[in-house]
Amino acid sequence: MIRMVDLKTQYENIREEIDRAVLDVIASTEYINGSAVKRFQAELEEYLQVKHVVPCANGTDALQIAMMALELKPGDEVIVPAFTYVATAEVIALLGLTPIMVDVYPDTFNVDVEQVRAAITPRTRAIVPVHLFGQSADMEPLLALARQHNLYVIEDNAQATGSDYTFSDGTRRKTGTMGHIGCTSFFPSKNLGCYGDGGAITTHDDALAQRLRMIANHGQSQLYHHAVIGVNSRLDSIQAAILSVKLKRLDQYNARRRQAADYYDAVFSQMPQLTIPARNARTTHVFHQYTLILREGDRDALKRHLAERGIPAMVYYPIPLYKQQAFARYWAGGELPITEQLCRSVISLPMHSELTPEQQNVIIEGVQSFFA
Ligand SMILES: *Cc1c(COP(=O)(O)O)cnc(C)c1O
Repeated sequence: MIRMVDLKTQYENIREEIDRAVLDVIASTEYINGSAVKRFQAELEEYLQVKHVVPCANGTDALQIAMMALELKPGDEVIVPAFTYVATAEVIALLGLTPIMVDVYPDTFNVDVEQVRAAITPRTRAIVPVHLFGQSADMEPLLALARQHNLYVIEDNAQATGSDYTFSDGTRRKTGTMGHIGCTSFFPSKNLGCYGDGGAITTHDDALAQRLRMIANHGQSQLYHHAVIGVNSRLDSIQAAILSVKLKRLDQYNARRRQAADYYDAVFSQMPQLTIPARNARTTHVFHQYTLILREGDRDALKRHLAERGIPAMVYYPIPLYKQQAFARYWAGGELPITEQLCRSVISLPMHSELTPEQQNVIIEGVQSFFA
């Protein structure tokens, strides 16, 4: 059976180790903030080469806690791409800040640095680049721009754990460790996913790490001493134990995704009706999604055509953020041309670490028969 993400086959391949890890936590009764959480935290710090990982309950909380830690004031502006998942902008609005939505590059789908530059005002305080679909935003010019204007950079790394970016001096950094704060999600379908909800915040800054930890834990730095208004956001021990098992395999999982993407690319690059996902040479694409652009034909008709053949496909994202009812008050009108065009023409095909060439052949034939 072809699935967008095949968590079942992945589990079956690591079942023994996962089951043992879960049962160990249950037997230990250390369900909250247990040793499994501390172990995973240290392993992720090592893997990402980042000084601090602060585990939390999900990726949306990670973004919210990051914004809270920076002590932004109501009315402060935070720049986000208009072509992203809602969580990125939602937490900004929730905290009384103003999301400023800007356009993206037509090839990599990541935030357009010149559009960010054009959107900066005296009220701008932060930029949230999203490493969309598994590859890093163009961080070098973005970080330079942020430095020049004294802005915070919060990376939304929910879709790109394991990806990296190479700077012009040759330094290579993992996504989520280049800005002031990185945020990620361990939602089951993400590249590093647990079996429920989970998230993490990353930073190299000691003072910021302490603040992030405090905010995630009811604003307390010492038991029953609440210095600031915080939230309750924890990664539970069972999820942490599962993540430790999967983190060891993350590079291998991501390599398999890349291999599957290469296989798709070889065929789809020969079809004039399609544009294959662009790869920025500076980043290792970890293909959270494999997203094609239709240059001709009706995208929704292709999705239906595939569904009739038992092939799932998804549209990430069909509606620009500024056209969502919830964000109407943050939008003066008009359209962002690239975001509009992508929302009309993108389609994501099944992509996961267990995808076989045989399954891909069925998917490829499904796509080819639509255009035949
Ligand atoms: C999944 C995702 C989030 C939110 O993560 P949750 O764990 O579901 O809260 C945020 N941003 C992006 C880009 C995502 O894909």
